Amino acid sequence: MKEIMYKSTRSDAEPITASKAILAGLAPDGGLYVPTEDPSFDRPLEELVPLSYQELAYAVMKQYLTDFTEEELRHCINGAYDSKFDTPAIAPLVKKGNAWYLELFHGKTIAFKDMALSILPYLMTTAAKKNHSEEEIVILTATSGDTGKAAMAGFADVPGTRIIVFYPKGGVSMIQELQMLTQKGANTAVAKIHGNFDDAQSAVKKVFNDADMKAELAARGFKFSSANSINVGRLVPQIVYYVYAYCTMVRNGDIACGDEINICVPTGNFGNILAAYYAKQMGLPVRKLICASNENKVLTDFFRTGSYDRKRPFMLTSSPSMDILISSNLERLIYRLCENDPAANKALMDALSGDGKYEITEKMQEKLNDFYGGCASEEDNFEGIASLYKETGYVIDTHTGIASAVYRKYRKETGDETPTVIASTASPYKFAKSVVNAIDPAFEAENDFGFIDRLHELSGVAEPAAITEIREAKILHDRETTAETLPDTIREILRIE
Ligand SMILES: *Cc1c(COP(=O)(O)O)cnc(C)c1O
Repeated sequence: MKEIMYKSTRSDAEPITASKAILAGLAPDGGLYVPTEDPSFDRPLEELVPLSYQELAYAVMKQYLTDFTEEELRHCINGAYDSKFDTPAIAPLVKKGNAWYLELFHGKTIAFKDMALSILPYLMTTAAKKNHSEEEIVILTATSGDTGKAAMAGFADVPGTRIIVFYPKGGVSMIQELQMLTQKGANTAVAKIHGNFDDAQSAVKKVFNDADMKAELAARGFKFSSANSINVGRLVPQIVYYVYAYCTMVRNGDIACGDEINICVPTGNFGNILAAYYAKQMGLPVRKLICASNENKVLTDFFRTGSYDRKRPFMLTSSPSMDILISSNLERLIYRLCENDPAANKALMDALSGDGKYEITEKMQEKLNDFYGGCASEEDNFEGIASLYKETGYVIDTHTGIASAVYRKYRKETGDETPTVIASTASPYKFAKSVVNAIDPAFEAENDFGFIDRLHELSGVAEPAAITEIREAKILHDRETTAETLPDTIREILRIE
């Protein structure tokens, strides 16, 4: 079988193996690792249809992670996708209204980040073993709310690893914050950072690219890696559930094998939708990838005009995990649009960090046909959540609500009735206050737990264990930092003076 190697989007440095790319997280030149070619499915699509989630995960992931042995990869998959998920389907698909909702929130922390972050610790420790890497791995992660908890839960007490999370102060929901602050595990740490998600992500990326700091840590036996979706070890497991959704639709008789579907994804850092794009490159029959943004609609504007411009007010919305103006993973698509020319890609990324914007050529823009960009306001979102509930009794969260609202617009604008899968990225319980505000605006409660109880009455869906746990859990973390003092906070956590 052909080996798939990974190279940086910003230089012509020698490609490395998948396991090394997972260990590194970010390339030393600041670029992201991309596969040197597009893997395809190893057998006809029909033969993937009957597979269980775990079997399908193996069939898809082995095409990307070619330096892992079958035994290694199956160990990772079986360790990750087990009874930590509250349903054997792992990623169930439900048809409501005129769309299929792919529920990606049945893991431990009730957001889709669990789909990749329950397997990343296995992939990373396996990669370390394969490469005889002796250092303790320090995972640095910026979070808009959900990655942080999912990464801490995944890495808690995993030998040979530390996990340090930074989240924007005032930029996450009460539930998200409580979930992080109550995380157990001697190797976990979390700090709120003054600023928004982009500030946190930039500060963390800066540490990654700081050669002095890297050397200082190496001298103490530490090595940085990332649990953000810039890590290919996050991206590859996310391809699986789109293929699984398709197979589920075939099994249910919703479509015939070979028919096209659309995939609509509530987008922030562009990781989840990029995985859907990779699924399409593998051979999944996908017509349009609908990229749904909230009021931070930098991607909608990009898809419509070819100009990426982050110089605009940062909006705090009720879909906080999508409050992002610098969508890191878009770089992987841009690189491809540049015909895999790292210098051309780097020039655009430098313009983004220097001037806050860049523009792609018309020729590049023509290749964006796979995508449709759309956005929804707070009002559209709330209205959509309420009307879906009224019509079907089904409750979606505020991120899925953005996708649902954008899909409705897309359908009206284009008349395209291709069966459409909407990535349902969080349990409504995680954003109970906003969801109840949308459905029952007159309801009031003292804190988020009151809204959770009301949500239970409205939806009839059992309260997930992730919520019950934090009702009583003790606060274990209380760090605060700024972009400037972030390196010192890391030293303090690692006890390096
Ligand atoms: C992270 C997140 C998103 C955005 O996903 P990206 O991969 O960053 O585009 C959407 N919804 C929820 C609930 C999330 O946690």
